[in-house]
Amino acid sequence: MKEIVILGAGYAGLKALRRLQADKGDFHVTLVDRNDYHYEATDLHEVAAGTQSREKITFPIADVIKPSTTFEKAEVKLIDRKKQRVQLNNGKNLAYDYLIVSLGFRSESFGIAGVAENALEMVDVASAENVNRHIIEQMKNYAKTKSQDNLRIVVCGAGFTGIELLGALEDNRKKFAAIAGVEPEKLEFYCVEAVTRLLPMFDEKLANYGISALKNWGIKFLTGKPIKEIKPNTVVYQDNKETGETKELSAKTIIWTTGVSGSQVMEASGFSQRRGRVMVSADLTDPDFDNVYIIGDVSAVMNTENNRPYPTTAQIALSMGEHAARNILAQLKGSATTPFTFKSLGSVASMGNTHAFGLVGKSAVKGYPASFVKKMIMDKSLLETGGIKEMLAKGRFDLYH
Ligand code: NAD
Repeated sequence: MKEIVILGAGYAGLKALRRLQADKGDFHVTLVDRNDYHYEATDLHEVAAGTQSREKITFPIADVIKPSTTFEKAEVKLIDRKKQRVQLNNGKNLAYDYLIVSLGFRSESFGIAGVAENALEMVDVASAENVNRHIIEQMKNYAKTKSQDNLRIVVCGAGFTGIELLGALEDNRKKFAAIAGVEPEKLEFYCVEAVTRLLPMFDEKLANYGISALKNWGIKFLTGKPIKEIKPNTVVYQDNKETGETKELSAKTIIWTTGVSGSQVMEASGFSQRRGRVMVSADLTDPDFDNVYIIGDVSAVMNTENNRPYPTTAQIALSMGEHAARNILAQLKGSATTPFTFKSLGSVASMGNTHAFGLVGKSAVKGYPASFVKKMIMDKSLLETGGIKEMLAKGRFDLYH
């Protein structure tokens, strides 16, 4: 019997698992993840802002694995593609015939000094909860210090993650203010961003719509200001490109959302990678090993329309998971694999619970109707990773407020 090992129970890995489990071939599947639960990574900002609980964005892996599948709760240390083995931190050394690597993302600091020490990251459930705990603590501290720094939150980077986090923080402005015992307007939410043309995946009009809405709610944007260093409680950014002059913005809460790279296991295991992402073959396999599929945030797939790799999103990860599983099933039957194709359905950024903006296909959606679309996207994702049970239990059906 052939052994298929899946590393990582994120969007890509779980989708692949579900597709394989739907088949009755002569194979056994082992799924490995450091957690015994799956989390919807696109919703981490809600846990960080405190608008959703950990329970709402997670479900137990046990809910989706069939009795015939083995689950290993362990951390992947190293992949040896020549020996076809995966080393885990629990001492096990798993052998495989086919491997699906879907180990996900980590925060990228671009080597900027002080990020690891002085900024909060938001990469998994624990770090998102830590952000929320930290904010609440600062609000409580304000009662003692009366320092405006306790009331100032800086989000570093205005990508999708930063924008969605700012929107969710705005939803909880009143709650935070009540803890600090101040008027909501006294809280300051800043976003410091390197470029001036934000959200390049949208046209300027649509990007400006979202940014203007956040500005109207009182969020302050410093754009064209690359961050050079994070000192304790201080963001140092370049204020003048010509002179290189820097300025400082002090805050007790600094959250780092300037982009992501793939798991460090890729580099440690000698994959040919850049920032943890491997440029895969057309059928999603490792260029050097046709029994190793690399999908999700550790994978780079070229978009032939613009000759740039597709951005890493939940949508493409789910699509890759389905495709990798189908290709393995084909290989098991001695058939040829097929190339991966991807047509984005669009992308929508939430700004809190009742506002959003983005593209559905090529059409712009804005405001409340867009937040409805966003919730449908979230529900569809839950359906694909967890099935009907998880979608009904954790889905977003609060569409009317
Ligand atoms: P990103 O790379 O999309 O955005 C990071 C932002 O940080 C950019 O605007 C960049 O200019 C800025 N930045 C980088 N270095 C900086 C510095 N030194 N100083 C100041 N600003 C700096 O990263 P992300 O937002 O974490 O998103 C990662 C991926 O996940 C993207 O592909 C994104 O599209 C996707 N995503 C999608 C959704 C969604 O579909 N709703 C939500 C979240 C993330």
